[in-house]
Amino acid sequence: SRDEIKDRHREARDELLADSYDHYIGGEWVESASGETFETHDPTTGEVLAEAQAGNSDDIDRAVEAAWDAYESEWADTDGTKRQRLLTEIAERIEDKRSEIARIETLDNGKPIREARADVALVADQFRYFAGAARTHGGETVPSGSGKSIRTLREPYGVIGAVVPWNFPLLIASWKLAPALAAGNCVVLKPAEQTPLSILRVMEEIDDVLPDGVINIVTGYGEEAGAPLTGHSDVRKVSFTGSTAVGKEVMKAAAENVADVTLELGGKSPVVVFPDADVQQAVRVMMLAMFYNTGECCTAGTRLFVHEEIYEEFMDAFVESAEGLRMGDPLSKDTRLGPKVSEEQVERTLSYVEQAREDGARIVTGGGQPEDDALADGCFVVPTVIDDIDHDSKPVQEEIFGPVEEVFAWSDYDEMIEWANDVEYGLAAGIITNDLSKANRAARDIKAGNIWVNQYNDFPAGQPFGGFKQSGIGREQAEETLDHYSQTKTINMNL
Ligand code: NAD
Repeated sequence: SRDEIKDRHREARDELLADSYDHYIGGEWVESASGETFETHDPTTGEVLAEAQAGNSDDIDRAVEAAWDAYESEWADTDGTKRQRLLTEIAERIEDKRSEIARIETLDNGKPIREARADVALVADQFRYFAGAARTHGGETVPSGSGKSIRTLREPYGVIGAVVPWNFPLLIASWKLAPALAAGNCVVLKPAEQTPLSILRVMEEIDDVLPDGVINIVTGYGEEAGAPLTGHSDVRKVSFTGSTAVGKEVMKAAAENVADVTLELGGKSPVVVFPDADVQQAVRVMMLAMFYNTGECCTAGTRLFVHEEIYEEFMDAFVESAEGLRMGDPLSKDTRLGPKVSEEQVERTLSYVEQAREDGARIVTGGGQPEDDALADGCFVVPTVIDDIDHDSKPVQEEIFGPVEEVFAWSDYDEMIEWANDVEYGLAAGIITNDLSKANRAARDIKAGNIWVNQYNDFPAGQPFGGFKQSGIGREQAEETLDHYSQTKTINMNL
C-alpha cells in the first residue's frame, strides 16, 4: 500500500543517508560559497531525501584550483602501476558497499533495485578495466633515419571537467572518472541535480584512497554549476553526457577555450525485427531494449520496425509482455518498472504521448499513469505502445526518454533502412533475426555507433560506446577512451 511504501522508503533513507551533503573539494567536505542548498527527492514517494549544496562559479573555481594543485604536486608523477593499484582499490571499496550504494541509487533515481545492483557491478568493473588499461597506455616510436629519434608520449590534460545526467548517475560518472584517472588526470565532476547522492556516498567511502583533490565533486544546477565548469579556462578537456541541446551549449563553451570534448548525447534508436525472427525471443529483447531503466536510457530502442508478415503476432505478444511488467516499489526485488526520475520528466513523457494522440496515432496500450493507489505518490508512467504514427512527427523524431515505444510495420528493406536512419540521432540500434547475412547487412546499413544483434543494452567494459551524428563525439568505456583523456606529445631528437 501507499503507506507501506512510504514507511519502507523513510526507513531506508534514515538508515542510508545523512540529512545534508557538502561538496567534495580538495579532499574536504565544504559548503557552497553562496551558502545555498537544494533538495533531492525520492521519485517513488515525492519526499525529500537530503539536501545538497547548490554550487556556483565560485565553488567550481575552487574545485578546479584544487584539482590543478593535486595534479601538479603529486598526481602528474604517479605511474601506471600506482594508478592501477588505486583504481583497483576503488573498485574493491565499491564492491564492499555495493548493496548500500545500490539502494541509495534506487532511492534517488527510482530505478528498480535489481537494475541499480547491475549498475554498481558495472561501476566496479569500469574501475577494474581502466586499472588494467592504465598499464598499457603508451606512445609510439616513429620510423626515422639513423641520425634521429622520434617518439610520442600520451600526456594527460591535467584537469578534466565532467558533467553527468540522472539516468545512470553513478555508472556514467564512472565512465568518466575511471579513464580520466587512468590516463593521469584529476577531475572536477558535477552530478545531475536530480541525483547527486550515490557519487557523494562513494566519495565518503574512497576518501582515503586517492590524494586530496584528484576527484572533486561540485553539486548544483546546470546553468549555475555545470556551465562554469564546462566553460572554465583552466579545464583542458570537457566530458559531458546529457541531452543534445545542452551538449551543443557545452561544445560552444569548450570552444571558447579550445578545450577538447567528449559528448554522449541523446538517441532515438531503431530496432529492426526480420520476418524469420522468433517472436518470443524478439519480445524478450524488446523488454530490455525499451523498458530497461523505465525507458530512461539514451540507447533505448524507441522506434521499432517489425516486418509486416509477423506484425500482428508480434504486437499481441509484445503488448501482453509490456502490460505484464511488474510496476511498483523499486526497492522491491521483484519490481521491473520503477518511477521516472521526476514530475517534470513525467509531464514531458506524457506530453509527447498526448501529441501523438492529437496527431491521430493509435495508443495500443498505456499512455498515462497507473491507477493503483499504492503508486499515487510516485512519478510512474505505464508502459506505452503506439502505432499508426507518422515517422516525420515530433514524438517520433524527438527523444521521449520514457517507457514509450513507437512501432512501424515494414515490407521493403531499403525503405525500412531509410526510416531507421531518418532521425538526427545515431546512438544505437538493434537487429533481431536468425539470418546472419541479413543481420550483417543491416548492421552495416544503419548509421549508429552501437549495434546489438539479438540482444540489447549490453555494456561490458572494453566495448567502445558512443554515437554517430548528433548523438555525440568520442567513445567511452574502451581502450581508445584513454586517447580522449590524453594528448600526444612528439619528441624529435637529433642524435
Ligand atoms: P540535460 O542535458 O538537461 O542535463 C545533463 C547534465 O547537464 C546535468 O548534470 C545538468 O545539470 C547539466 N547541465 C544542464 N545545463 C547545462 C549547461 N548549460 N552547461 C553545463 N551543464 C549543464 O539532460 P538530462 O535531462 O539530465 O538527461 C537526459 C538526457 O541525457 C537525454 O537526452 C539522454 O539521451 C541523455 N543521455 C545520453 C547518454 C549517452 O551516453 N549518450 C547517456 C545518458 C543520458
